[in-house]
Amino acid sequence: MSKQIAVVTGCAGFIGITFTKLLLERGWLVYGIDKFTYVANFEELRTLANIYPNTFTYVTEDIKDIDRLPECDVVFNLAAESDVDNSILNMDNFIDSNISGVKNLLEIITHRSVQIKNNKPLFFQVSTDEVYGDKEEGSFDETAALMPSNPYAATKAAADMLVESWSRTHGLDYIIARPSNNYGENQYPEKLIPTVIRRLQREQKVKLHNKGLPVRSWTHVEDTAEAFILLYEKACRNNIYNIQSDYEQNNFVTVTKIINIYFMGAINVEIPNYDEHIDYEYDRPGQDVRYSISCESIKNYGWTPKKNFDKEIVKLVNFYKKRKWKW
Ligand code: NAD
Repeated sequence: MSKQIAVVTGCAGFIGITFTKLLLERGWLVYGIDKFTYVANFEELRTLANIYPNTFTYVTEDIKDIDRLPECDVVFNLAAESDVDNSILNMDNFIDSNISGVKNLLEIITHRSVQIKNNKPLFFQVSTDEVYGDKEEGSFDETAALMPSNPYAATKAAADMLVESWSRTHGLDYIIARPSNNYGENQYPEKLIPTVIRRLQREQKVKLHNKGLPVRSWTHVEDTAEAFILLYEKACRNNIYNIQSDYEQNNFVTVTKIINIYFMGAINVEIPNYDEHIDYEYDRPGQDVRYSISCESIKNYGWTPKKNFDKEIVKLVNFYKKRKWKW
């Protein structure tokens, strides 16, 4: 059987690295595209390129500006500006990468690419559960209305709508995947888990948004990467699929677990006084109280998350503790 060919945009990002690695382990040919913003894992990507010199190559490009794509079976679009706090400060880059970038990829696939015009690849858009907004009880399924409550989520929702409308107008096949909050190795320390560990290392207090009350579900990045491949291989085209493990807790619980592991070496051994390490004075404007999505559609294809948060977080704290931060 001939090898499958994937374009992976955002291949140097947190999920992009893990996903690219999994595709390569499964024997795919991968053409990576990344603009290498401040979050990119350049060293991890170079390591992958050394391990897989014949099946992996990557280019430094902006998805908004590229004018060609190679012949491929599928374009997995993971490239995005992904930090909510940054989007609150200034959303120009978010509009460029998350909306105009998607528009450019769609245009290349449908109108401009000589290489692929006779055999349009599947467009696999990686979206987010944040497009639904928050939900204090119950869960959103894929038919729920989009009610994004921060600028980042709004750009992702706009991209989803663009993909759906493009499919109808131009006859493009797509899959939209909406993962929940991911955790794992190699995440940039603006996201909760690595930022907490880095602040503890620097003997700074952890800034906990909204008293730690917001609830988040946690899906391991390797489970998400498995889900993407499964959806590509098995799922019905021109559909949307939520991806979330069943594990949720409020941010205070997440942070205190990390603090326990950091200082006491065990998840449930409590330190005498959390207030010495946590600053509760910080509120994020428009904070979502809880995200929750139901995942019956992908579970019907046989996906079940394998990773357990309480086990993985112990390994992860030790991973980040040893990390030499370059930032
Ligand atoms: P990330 O911010 O860690 O990485 C994004 C990557 O995209 C970076 O390597 C960056 O250099 C690249 N990039 C940004 N703009 C680009 C552009 N215009 N052209 C080319 N490359 C560009 O993000 P992540 O956590 O790996 O997330 C990947 C995707 O999954 C994103 O689309 C994000 O919205 C979505 N998502 C992430 C999570 C999560 O918890 N990490 C949850 C749900 C959805």
